[in-house]
Amino acid sequence: MALIVQKYGGTSVGSPERIKNVVRRVAKYKALGHQLIVVVSAMSGETNRLIGLAKEMQAQPDPRELDMVVSTGEQVTVGLVSMGLIQEGLKAKSYTGAQVKIITDSAFTKARILSIDEQNIRADLANGYVVVVAGFQGVDKEGNITTLGRGGSDTTGVAIAAALHADECQIYTDVDGVYTTDPRMVPEARRLKTITFEEMLEMASLGSKVLQIRAVEFAGKYRVKLRVLSSFAEEGDGTLITFEEDDKMEQAIISGIAFNRDEAKITVRGVPDKPGIAYQILGPVSEANVDVDMIIQNVGVDGSTDFSFTVHRNEFDKAIDILKNKVQNHIGAQNVVGDNKTAKVSVVGVGMRSHVGIASKMFRTLAEEGINIQMISTSEIKISVVIDEKYLELAVRVLHKAFDLDLESA
Ligand code: ADP
Ligand code: ASP
Ligand code: MG
Repeated sequence: MALIVQKYGGTSVGSPERIKNVVRRVAKYKALGHQLIVVVSAMSGETNRLIGLAKEMQAQPDPRELDMVVSTGEQVTVGLVSMGLIQEGLKAKSYTGAQVKIITDSAFTKARILSIDEQNIRADLANGYVVVVAGFQGVDKEGNITTLGRGGSDTTGVAIAAALHADECQIYTDVDGVYTTDPRMVPEARRLKTITFEEMLEMASLGSKVLQIRAVEFAGKYRVKLRVLSSFAEEGDGTLITFEEDDKMEQAIISGIAFNRDEAKITVRGVPDKPGIAYQILGPVSEANVDVDMIIQNVGVDGSTDFSFTVHRNEFDKAIDILKNKVQNHIGAQNVVGDNKTAKVSVVGVGMRSHVGIASKMFRTLAEEGINIQMISTSEIKISVVIDEKYLELAVRVLHKAFDLDLESA
């Protein structure tokens, strides 16, 4: 007997018919003698619908109230899944995050899980229940409902698996595993049998939304056995997230290509080239809670330089506003310019540690298509470039082919 956490995403619980499909799978595992905790998202489209309603009331919804509204999507699906299970003759019980006592900090709309009370869940499992838990939500120490950021049900699933020392956490979604890149953009993308935890962390942070980054962080920290699977296929091994030292298989140099359309670039021109300038530019930006991603400072000429960085597209106007009103005159910069039609493309692979020439291959491939690289950043296992958004799809396709990731080259 194993303790298994199964997380089902929005599409997998998108209609009563699909929920019945989930019920069948859960019943199958239960019949094999396993203990089951099921974590579910809201029905597909529901969270967006709720955010839309909130915005009709307030252009910038109050974060506490927004969490109150958007957390309801998951409350509906846990009840429906439990009903389906009971209808099948199983014992099942649904819980909201607050009922479990998934305690988070108070950062509404992007809260972090601090602790999970396992008592109720353990007692129910011991009594033969399937426990159905609402993903994406928790409660802070004051009793306010919080949510964990978009895609946060993945994190609920992995965090519960970690807290209860589950044997496996299975993430059921609308694709049958983690692919070399988003299969919706590149039909030649291949499913990976395994991907290392580090690579998955990079892929998730660079835009592959198949797993929320915090879910991958949790899995790494608590060594949760994590697998991504299709909720629509009867069979299949999906993709197992492995730890490098355990993964003795021959690794490809590049495992995948991630992309992100949400990047916006800002340049402060004619900045005096002297100590403290980076701080004077980025200090006010970070005080306004705007996250900065890539940063480039050019070599100064005649005592002045250009300073560029990227932010999330949603925060572009806010950042430009701060720089124009609080920074530009203060530091004596020439002007502030921006481009919010940029995108980031990244190649990821642990094989980069032991192979040279990956960067030059990436740059040559993009050059051959006439795609201009605006910014570059690297880490030990990834290279990212910022390009014009209109070339994003082309860039992903040609890189996928150049690094031998296309299906036919497997
Ligand atoms: P769920 O609602 O089940 O959580 P998501 O929409 O959050 O599903 O994540 C699954 C989607 O992630 C897929 O439909 C796919 O388009 C996208 N995706 C992006 N990158 C990848 C990748 N490398 N491998 C697989 N899927 C990916
Ligand atoms: N329902 C939430 C969202 O759409 C959480 C999730 O699906 O993981 O972001
Ligand atoms: Mg998701």
